[in-house]
Amino acid sequence: MCKLCEEGYPQYHGASRRNFLKNATGAGIAAFAFGSLNSPVSAAEVPEPIPSAPPRNSGWADKRYLIRGGAVLSMDTKVGDFVKADVLIEGKKIIAVRPNIEAGNAEVIDANGKIVMPGFIDTHHHQFETTLRSYLSNGMLVDDGKPHGAVNYMGTILGKFSPVYKPEDVYIAELFGSLSQLDAGVTTVHDLSQIHHSPAHTDAAIKGIEDSGRRTVFAYSESQGNKLTFGNDVRRLKTQYFASKDQLMTLSIGGEIYAPDFDDAWKVGRSLDLPIALHVVGHTLRGAFTRIARTGKLGKDNLLIHMTGVDDETWKIVADSGAGVSLSVPIEMAMRHGTPPIMKALLQGIEPSLSSDVECTMTADFFTQMRGAFTLQRMIVNEAALKGETDLPELLTARDVIRFATRRGAEDLWLGDKTGSLTPGKEADIILLDATAINVAPLNNVPGAVVTLMDRSNVETVIVAGKIRKWKGRLLDADIPALSSAITASRDRIFAAAKLPVNLFGN
Ligand SMILES: [Zn+2]
Repeated sequence: MCKLCEEGYPQYHGASRRNFLKNATGAGIAAFAFGSLNSPVSAAEVPEPIPSAPPRNSGWADKRYLIRGGAVLSMDTKVGDFVKADVLIEGKKIIAVRPNIEAGNAEVIDANGKIVMPGFIDTHHHQFETTLRSYLSNGMLVDDGKPHGAVNYMGTILGKFSPVYKPEDVYIAELFGSLSQLDAGVTTVHDLSQIHHSPAHTDAAIKGIEDSGRRTVFAYSESQGNKLTFGNDVRRLKTQYFASKDQLMTLSIGGEIYAPDFDDAWKVGRSLDLPIALHVVGHTLRGAFTRIARTGKLGKDNLLIHMTGVDDETWKIVADSGAGVSLSVPIEMAMRHGTPPIMKALLQGIEPSLSSDVECTMTADFFTQMRGAFTLQRMIVNEAALKGETDLPELLTARDVIRFATRRGAEDLWLGDKTGSLTPGKEADIILLDATAINVAPLNNVPGAVVTLMDRSNVETVIVAGKIRKWKGRLLDADIPALSSAITASRDRIFAAAKLPVNLFGN
């Protein structure tokens, strides 16, 4: 029996015998030299290191392991960056971040060639729509009476699909969407689950998220066809699922201005000490957000999503209130929410967090989110420079948008003391990114490589609260083919009930 099978990791059996190149013959890699680019190369003489198994019982109390020798981007200015350093984890928490930590009896993860950084944080996602992925790739947000609005999100996704969801559809969408983002290194999400047609729907959403084992802020939000009394079910949830704050899932509430139970939601949220999130798409609210902002209602417990089409005076009120701002840059640009207000936010001294919003129209991976914000802000400033303007704001850097996607996300989700950076004492939500990969090597700049080169294929290891969830490029504890079949069956059911065909080449 091989050592890996013996230790209970049969899935890695044989992996060590891979060659660098299929059909490789001839000179060994040591002989590879300039001028030999067309020569066949063989790794036969250079044995690939045996891939180690993940530390056992990771995340369990007192269980220690060491992530050794990675390029560490802590996103904590007090901890700093390291060309090569170690991260020591015990139980759920980060114990130390510095070079040359003595491992003692801790198991070791070799992070040589990897970037070690905090997991990404998505501050606004509607995961129940995972089943409708790319259905509305070319759609608009609403029919705003202007050209192109006929096929839109409100009419199709919320109007036709959402009402026919059964609890089992909610479960698989939440689970599959959570695992997919986990696989892409997004260790925390704020799920605005607008699918609470019945308490059973709500329970199914929570179960799907729980089964994924990801850190999640579950935002109980109004939903199409909701017949519930808002307050009653939130009180039930708080008692039944969220009595403790020391758990992976916490609760927030959707306080949408356009919902009939707006006042109720805010009252319930504040009486139960729950943070309140809401969408602010200026042109659809006809000044209602400004009116509410002026009443002094906003505070640090609010997360304001999109914030397009909001006037400067209202932005000042938002800045003074301490509310967080979440931007879904690619979605806002594609679906006509309005220009993502990244300049307005920064001008007010508000650092935005980033969010994926809906996979019916755009991927939820965070490299896309970071690149969207990075290129948009720089385009606006660069255009002004080319027009001859001289009093210009700073250009966003790669590090800036990583901060939006990590630390700021944690703060906007009221989890700043728990996650968002590699800080001793915080929980260990960590990703290892492969900087030796063909789309990244050689590594010349860590934040630059993450933002301008990488994609989800580079997410090699993912850790949530100390527990290893993805290892050597493979999600653990998840049968992807079975889950994929289940969500496809759910898709078939939903489309049939909504009386809409699956049209693989439609618009
Ligand atoms: Zn949204």
